Amino acid sequence: MKKNRLHWFMQWALFPLALVGTPWMIHTFIMSGVSVPIATYLVVVSLGLLFWLAEYLMPFRESWNQTKGDVSNDIISGTVAYIILPIFLKPLIVAALAGGTAWLALTVGGSLWPNHWPVGFQLVLLLLLGDAGRYWGHRLAHEVPLLWRFHAVHHSAERLWWWNATRQHPVDKAWFTLTEMLFPVLLGAEGIVLAMYLGVTAVCGFSQHCNIDLKLGKFYWFFNVVDLHRWHHSKKIEESNNNYGNNLIVYDRLFGTYFHPERQHDPSRELGEIGLLNPYYPKNYLGQLRAPFITGLDKEQPTSTETEEVM
Ligand SMILES: [Zn+2]
Repeated sequence: MKKNRLHWFMQWALFPLALVGTPWMIHTFIMSGVSVPIATYLVVVSLGLLFWLAEYLMPFRESWNQTKGDVSNDIISGTVAYIILPIFLKPLIVAALAGGTAWLALTVGGSLWPNHWPVGFQLVLLLLLGDAGRYWGHRLAHEVPLLWRFHAVHHSAERLWWWNATRQHPVDKAWFTLTEMLFPVLLGAEGIVLAMYLGVTAVCGFSQHCNIDLKLGKFYWFFNVVDLHRWHHSKKIEESNNNYGNNLIVYDRLFGTYFHPERQHDPSRELGEIGLLNPYYPKNYLGQLRAPFITGLDKEQPTSTETEEVM
């Protein structure tokens, strides 16, 4: 009985506690003198380990806790896309947008970013702005064939676990970061609020991909996590071409791509298999690095023997 109560509590409490606790801890560490990158990585890695433990204590699908030869791919992919690439990406994006940022600042006589606001309000503004660009970046990655070639790597996962939030082709990662950071960088957002934003993004990213039987309740009104993102990984295109928000679901509701059968028209509909339709899509890191450059791999069916060249 005691165990059941704890289980129930964790199902409902893990997401809200992480959502508030993660940016709060990053803020506290930075204010007490820890450098921004160390504070951010320390808290995010601890959060990931907590999610990993919870996957074994209260899995959504037992079968998703069985590896499918995908761990090394996920680890390499995440290390490249989320540890090595950001070292270069952020300065490159800031430099690329520097002209626009300076022009905007000159036009209004100073930075547009409301640094004088309480940091919590700045964080909410950052979430709304980050998702505004990223929603369209993600949607275009599904609707423009050239972008889909790179984004298909992320959708190649055949099971969801917290770490494959980071499975991304470097080109896809660069595109997503650019669209996400476009408005915040143009408006001059910087420093501690960006680190806190990264913390919230990690909470949402892990909650989207984790194999934990979480309950969200009213949080589904605002956040694109858990069930909503699982549908986004469905093998059926008509189901997966929805729920594009990075952290929030508000733009999907606004632009007609909100999809949540359990709460909408068909509560009996169940999530089937996830991943890509093409069974010959490469499964190792190098194969997936090359996959976008091979015609037909991202389509529903294998089209030629080319698909076998990269296996
Ligand atoms: Zn997607």
